[in-house]
Amino acid sequence: MTSTPSHDRNDQLMARARQVIPGGVNSPVRAFRAVGGTPRFVQRAQGPYFWDANGQRYIDYIGSWGPMILGHGHPAVLEAVQKAVQDGFSFGAPTEREIELAEEILALMPSMDMVRLVSSGTEAGMSAIRLARGATGRSKIIKFEGCYHGHADALLVKAGSGLATFGNPTSAGVPPEVVQHTLVLEYNHLAQLEEAFALHGQDIACLIIEPIAGNMNFVRARTDFVRRCRELCTQHGALLIYDEVMTGFRTALGGVQSLHAQAIDGFAPDLTVMGKVIGGGMPLAAFGGRRAVMEQLAPLGPVYQAGTLSGNPVATACGLATLREIRQPGFFENLSAKTRTLTQGLTAAAKEAGAPFCADSEGGMFGFFLLPTLPQNYAEVMRTDNARFNQLFHGLLARGIYTAPALYEAGFVSAAHTDEDIAITLEAARAVFQQLGQNS
Ligand SMILES: *Cc1c(COP(=O)(O)O)cnc(C)c1O
Repeated sequence: MTSTPSHDRNDQLMARARQVIPGGVNSPVRAFRAVGGTPRFVQRAQGPYFWDANGQRYIDYIGSWGPMILGHGHPAVLEAVQKAVQDGFSFGAPTEREIELAEEILALMPSMDMVRLVSSGTEAGMSAIRLARGATGRSKIIKFEGCYHGHADALLVKAGSGLATFGNPTSAGVPPEVVQHTLVLEYNHLAQLEEAFALHGQDIACLIIEPIAGNMNFVRARTDFVRRCRELCTQHGALLIYDEVMTGFRTALGGVQSLHAQAIDGFAPDLTVMGKVIGGGMPLAAFGGRRAVMEQLAPLGPVYQAGTLSGNPVATACGLATLREIRQPGFFENLSAKTRTLTQGLTAAAKEAGAPFCADSEGGMFGFFLLPTLPQNYAEVMRTDNARFNQLFHGLLARGIYTAPALYEAGFVSAAHTDEDIAITLEAARAVFQQLGQNS
C-alpha cells in the first residue's frame, strides 16, 4: 500500500501484538482479516479524527462502532469523566449517578418503565433473553440471520435445514444442545415468520431483532414486518425484544422504536437492549422494558442477573454527559443532514464512475453497498463483490478515510465531523471510484 512494512509502526505493533494476543486483537473485526493489510493502531483521537502509530491522521467513520456520537474527547464529556475519576473508579455499592442515568434513559425511551445497567451489549442481550424466558416460562427464542446480539452461546447460531429444526452453532465450543432452542429466520421474510409462530408459537419466549440491522451493514426491517412481529408476539404471549445496542440514541433520540411508534399504532417492544452510545465510549450497556417483566429480576424476582462493575461510576458519568449533549434541540436534525450529505455524495461519486452503489442512513448511522439496490436480508448483503469492496476500503484508507474493514458493518458520523471533513471524504471517494471503474 502506501508504506514499506519495515518502517511501519502499525506493522511492528501488529507483529508484537500477535505474540501475546490471539490474532493481535481483542475483538476479531479489528484484525482486518476480511480486507487484508495491517490494522491501524490508534495513538490518540480528537473530534472526528484519530492518529495511528505512524502519526497518520484519519477521518473516523467508525467512532468505536457507534458510541462516539459527539466525536472523540468532547469537552463536556471529558470534564464529567475527569470529575468522576476523582471520586473513585468503582464501589460495588449503589450511587446516585446510576439513578440519574436510568432516569435519563427512561425519559427518552417511552417503552421502558425500568432499566438495569450492565457493562456490555453481549451481557445486556444475554440477560434480556434470560429474563424473557424466566418471565414467560418458555425456552424457545427467535432471531434473524445477520442480526448480532452479542456472543452469548445460544446466539452463535445459523439456520438449520428447515423451520421444524432449530439452528446449528456457528462457533466451536458451542454444543448443539445449547442452540437447540434458537430458531433462526430470514430478516424481512413475512411468510417464514408466520410459519415459525404457527409451528412453535406456544413455546416461544421471545423474538429478538435489530430494527435496523447494523451488523449486516445497514438493512431496515420493513414496517409491515415489524408490525407483524409485534402482533404475533402479542397473540402468542411471546416478548418482543428490540436490540437497539447500535441504533439506540444513534439513529434518533428514542432509537428506531420511536420511528416505528410513529408509523404503527400502539407500537412498543416489551424489552429493549441498549449499549454503545449510552456509555459514550465507556463499557456500559443496559436492558429494560415493562415494569411487570423487569420486576422478575433479582433481587425482586427469580431471574438471576448481576455484575461487579455494573453501573460503574466513571462509565455512568460518561454516558450521562453524552446523553445530555445529544438531547439538545436540533442535534439529530443536524447529524442526520450531515450523514445524508455523505451518503448522497458517495452515491453521486459512484454514479459518475459508473459503479453499482446504493446507500442508506438514519440519524448518524449509515450503510453503503456495491449493489444496485438496497438489500433486504443477509444473503442479499453477502452478494457484494468482496474484492471490489476491499479495493474501495483500502483506497479510502490510503487517503486518510477510515471506514468499516468488513462489508457487513455499518458506518457512523459524529457531531464533530465538519462539512470540510465530508467534502474531503467525497473527494477521496471520487478518486477511488474512478480507479474501481477502470479496474472492473
Ligand atoms: C455491538 C452490538 C452488540 C454487542 O455489544 P458488545 O458491547 O460488543 O458486547 C449487541 N447487539 C448489537 C445490535 C450490537 O450492535
